[in-house]
Amino acid sequence: MKGGRVAQGDQGDQGDQGEQGEQGGALKGLPVLLGLVLAAVICYFAWEFFKEGSGPIRDRSAARQGRCGTVTPSPAEQAAARDDVAAFLQGRKAGAAEIQLSIPVQFHVIHDGGTGNVAESVLRSQFAVLNDVFSPHGITFTWYAAPTRTDNKSWFEMELTKNQQHSPEEREAKTKLHVTPASVLNVYVSGTKKYLGWATSPANLASDPVMDGVVLSYQSLPGGVEPYHLGLTAVHEVGHWLGLLHIWAGGCGTHGDNVDDTPPQAEAREGCPKEPINSCHNDRPDVDDHLTNYMDYVDDACMDRFTPGQFKLMKSTSGSYRPALVVD
Ligand SMILES: [Zn+2]
Repeated sequence: MKGGRVAQGDQGDQGDQGEQGEQGGALKGLPVLLGLVLAAVICYFAWEFFKEGSGPIRDRSAARQGRCGTVTPSPAEQAAARDDVAAFLQGRKAGAAEIQLSIPVQFHVIHDGGTGNVAESVLRSQFAVLNDVFSPHGITFTWYAAPTRTDNKSWFEMELTKNQQHSPEEREAKTKLHVTPASVLNVYVSGTKKYLGWATSPANLASDPVMDGVVLSYQSLPGGVEPYHLGLTAVHEVGHWLGLLHIWAGGCGTHGDNVDDTPPQAEAREGCPKEPINSCHNDRPDVDDHLTNYMDYVDDACMDRFTPGQFKLMKSTSGSYRPALVVD
């Protein structure tokens, strides 16, 4: 790009000389004009290529706006949640690490004719991925009932609204399909294209129980579209559903993501970062960012961990807002 601009400038200078000194300047100017048009066309396509390649989701054909549509609670909402969780833990003898959760999962497959009508084996694989990640840490998922299957084009195409709020289609689908949100994790598999998924916050369960749950693109399930094909979108969204924020949610601010052992992180990461990055220096000790955390936006193949602090927060938040899931 830079070299192209230099070439344009050189040609432009020659054109100016032609106008000043010789007849036939107009003819000499023609190649200059064509050169400028060609350079502009090349720059345009180069920009389009760059834009596509560096977007938040490499699967750009589906017009995705980002990996996750989950809204970060406001600072006031986060403060209220911290108070609620602290109050819950004060009332317990054992600490957060000792809490055990058992979570029944109900899958709802919303498809458009044959499109998105995923096989039960795929859902079983997704279910297994959840247990692989969470169950060694005291959060176990159980298969609640056979998946529901609904052929509905409008519901299949549900998206978050412009302000990342629930759409009428999402509300209609969940109103019809949901089962006991206080004690069951409802997972809606749809054809959503703007995001790979989103989840509701535990603090919103009481005020809007029907909307509670996780929405996933069927393309994010195991065997889906690379590089989001290992079923880790569900792990990320269930992390939200259990009370986690994005690891970079608070930037370098005081509370960060409300987890003590995740370093503050200034911004989301995509792709598969290989080199160490230290984006905030206000942590003590000042350590590098966690580049492979499930609560970032990196590729599935490059995600591999929750921290002990994240597991504690998921358990204590669930104990506070979803007490039916706690195994005593
Ligand atoms: Zn998210």
